Amino acid sequence: MQITMIGTGYVGLVSGVCFSEFGFQVTCVDKDADKIAKLQQHIMPIYEPGLEQMVEANRKAGRLFFTTDLPQAVAQADIVFIAVGTPPNETDGMPDLVALNIVTKEVAKALKGYTLVVNKSTVPLGTNRNISKIIAETNPGADFDVASNPEFLREGTAIKDFMAPDRIVCGATSKRAREHLNKLYEPICLNGAEILFTTFESAEMIKYAANSMLATRIAFINEIADLCEKTGANIRDVARGVGLDNRIGDKFLQAGPGYGGSCCPKDTLALQQMARNAGVPSQLVEATIKSNDARKLSMSEKIITAAGGNIKSKTVAILGLTFKPGTDDMRESASLYIIPALIAAGAEIRAYDPQGMEEAAHHLKTNIKWCDDAYDAMQGADMLVILTEWNEFRSLDLDKVRATLRHPLVVDLRNIYKRQDMKTHGFHYVSIGRQEVKPSEANILDLNIEDELAA
Ligand code: NAD
Repeated sequence: MQITMIGTGYVGLVSGVCFSEFGFQVTCVDKDADKIAKLQQHIMPIYEPGLEQMVEANRKAGRLFFTTDLPQAVAQADIVFIAVGTPPNETDGMPDLVALNIVTKEVAKALKGYTLVVNKSTVPLGTNRNISKIIAETNPGADFDVASNPEFLREGTAIKDFMAPDRIVCGATSKRAREHLNKLYEPICLNGAEILFTTFESAEMIKYAANSMLATRIAFINEIADLCEKTGANIRDVARGVGLDNRIGDKFLQAGPGYGGSCCPKDTLALQQMARNAGVPSQLVEATIKSNDARKLSMSEKIITAAGGNIKSKTVAILGLTFKPGTDDMRESASLYIIPALIAAGAEIRAYDPQGMEEAAHHLKTNIKWCDDAYDAMQGADMLVILTEWNEFRSLDLDKVRATLRHPLVVDLRNIYKRQDMKTHGFHYVSIGRQEVKPSEANILDLNIEDELAA
């Protein structure tokens, strides 16, 4: 089966490579000639663990190709995927469908023989039905079906998520489309994934509802963390105790600086607007967005307060810039809110991220010293702030951190250190949803179970 994947971003590239790994012939298309040239020279345009090796293996095996020639790639395909970006527009946050509509028309003109057109981009209700209409109007003789196949992979674990997903959702009404999709996803279903066939509208809604549910959990646990901090509870114990309830589960209960990335922020905005447009506004989704926006802004205040209320002329070492570890994606990262606020308050920034610095430099243009590693970032710094929980930040040499920083002050917005360890090393340690550790009060520190059990 010949597959053409249009859009070689985080979703398209990973999906295309994974299909080729299952033995399909895959051609990945992008309008970005620079991206395609890089891929042809085996330079990855994005960072995703395991991607480079998989691209190389499948190119060598003659199953994976990259091109800017959309018409040719579409003409030869049995299945065409659309995986272009659908970023929020600036007026009401609804997805911008310009790229999707352009691609749909180009696909329509190039179709040859029966072709299944599968949309993987996240789109508002009614869009897949409209894709079908656009193709029929643009090319009345075309023999095609449309399917909606929203993607649920997470950056950082995208290959594993794609190859062993919890479920595959397909909005497909025709029998022929369902047969093609069953055949296509058979290798993944044999690994245990369930394929759910439904209508276009339900498939579209599943994607928005799932991401909004996850966003709501994060916003909720972040609010509980604030309450823990004020009342002496420990959010790590609380999240664990809540998550052990099978009805709730332990995923997406890590308190932090607010959710970011390319999905939760934009998909909640879209759902909010769709619900308003339909005359059934979602109070929960509206509150989640408000809570998360406020949280990202409040994190800089937390850092300034930890620094004694004034950060002017102080040097802050920042570890982690991307919205999560395992990716170079900076979209809606908390760092994009926190760092400018610290700079505006007069701080000097020394920053390090294992994969995100090139992308971060496009977003954060002012006055940042980009560093070679974590300890380089701490050189001459008055305090350390951990923004993203990359593995390499989890086991820093605390003696070296203490010796490198000018003051033993650490703000950990991901709770990756134990309060006991920070106390032993004499740090003033501020984290999320847990009592502050102050060196002067170290002896009277009231340990939580987490600290005692070395959890
Ligand atoms: P992205 O911005 O990383 O990639 C989109 C790609 O489409 C770019 O390479 C761009 O050059 C290409 N493109 C745009 N217009 C084109 C055209 N006319 N012809 C050919 N190529 C074109 O986007 P992404 O993060 O991969 O997201 C794609 C879709 O998948 C979005 O709708 C997103 O909401 C959804 N999604 C993303 C994720 C994620 O983790 N990134 C997860 C699930 C779903």
